[in-house]
Amino acid sequence: MNDTPEFIRENVELAAFTTLAIGGNARYFVEASDDQKIIDALAFAHRHSIATFVLGGGSNVLIADNGFDGLVIHIATRGIEFLAEESGTVRLTVKAGEDWDAFVRYTVAENLAGLECMSGIPGSVGGTPVQNVGAYGQEVAESIVSVRCLDRRSREIKLLSADDCGFSYRTSIFNSTERDRFIVLDVTYKLVHDGKPKLAYKDLQEEFGTSKPGLQLVRDAVIKIRRSKSMVIDPNDPNSRSAGSFFKNPVVDTQFVSTLVEQFGNVPSFPVDDDRSKIPAAWLIDKAGFEKGFRLGNAGISDNHTLAIVNRGHATAADVIQLKGKIQDGVQATFGIRLQPEPVFVGF
Ligand code: NAP
Repeated sequence: MNDTPEFIRENVELAAFTTLAIGGNARYFVEASDDQKIIDALAFAHRHSIATFVLGGGSNVLIADNGFDGLVIHIATRGIEFLAEESGTVRLTVKAGEDWDAFVRYTVAENLAGLECMSGIPGSVGGTPVQNVGAYGQEVAESIVSVRCLDRRSREIKLLSADDCGFSYRTSIFNSTERDRFIVLDVTYKLVHDGKPKLAYKDLQEEFGTSKPGLQLVRDAVIKIRRSKSMVIDPNDPNSRSAGSFFKNPVVDTQFVSTLVEQFGNVPSFPVDDDRSKIPAAWLIDKAGFEKGFRLGNAGISDNHTLAIVNRGHATAADVIQLKGKIQDGVQATFGIRLQPEPVFVGF
């Protein structure tokens, strides 16, 4: 098109931008290194009625083999603004394109508590409010003050408070009621200077026993645990070529858990509220007969974590979809629960 801005490229392969290393070409692609490029790219797409997809760290997407027939906006903005406050708290405003784990490492080095349990998670800062990223009993909703975003409808910049974001377990307005409406530009977190690390989960408590570790030791322990499950991206670990957890942990009526216990004996579950409990998806998958290392064509289950689908080399999106369906059908036939995938599907 003759009004295509010079920073928009055509026919760009997307596989390299994803942790699964799968996906065809984007018809149009922009590396958005500042907010203005995001706004201009969006205006171009709007003028020509072209679909858009916003790509962050690529750690939670499955892109179709035929790619995406639209404009991919790769958020590549950088910068951390540091604002010390009274009463031992600090506010940091972080651009959406910053690497999440590099940011967490920085906060821990600065002795700021609030994000340490979410160490080693791949992806970008802008992705964290979308699914209210959490791990080991800590989630970003606990520390997010506000999210500045671009409204794709009105193309205005809006500042949403944490309340406006409607956070709950792995959910926000960004991936539910207002899905595809906002592009996250930056996120402001409030952290506690010299605060204590959160030690809520058994894995972490076992690691430390009665000792009182600082933030850095907790970060190190989380990374060690995640690495042992190949949940830290590492080019030398073929089991980490995945999109992290491929299925959500299902939340079911606690009553239903009791019927499963009668049928299957010991079923692990954790209360979510008065009536509902979550069951680890990894346990259901394993008990339905899909063990670690299970393979289907070039896709497979990680050797180190039942919840991760791995590209075993030259896997296509079709291979992944086939394996996903087989696992969903198997778990449903055994337990009557339909597992829901966690990644975002693009171009299907
Ligand atoms: P895991 O530690 O093997 O735990 C499996 C399941 O048990 C998860 O559903 C976890 O809940 C639950 N669980 C364990 N201990 C619990 C406790 N004390 N209280 C309540 N629930 C408990 O899980 P994993 O797959 O290896 O993942 C490790 C952590 O990373 C988990 O916290 C997981 O949620 C997190 N993670 C988050 C994302 C994301 O934000 N999108 C993606 C991948 C993994 P929770 O899921 O509520 O923690």
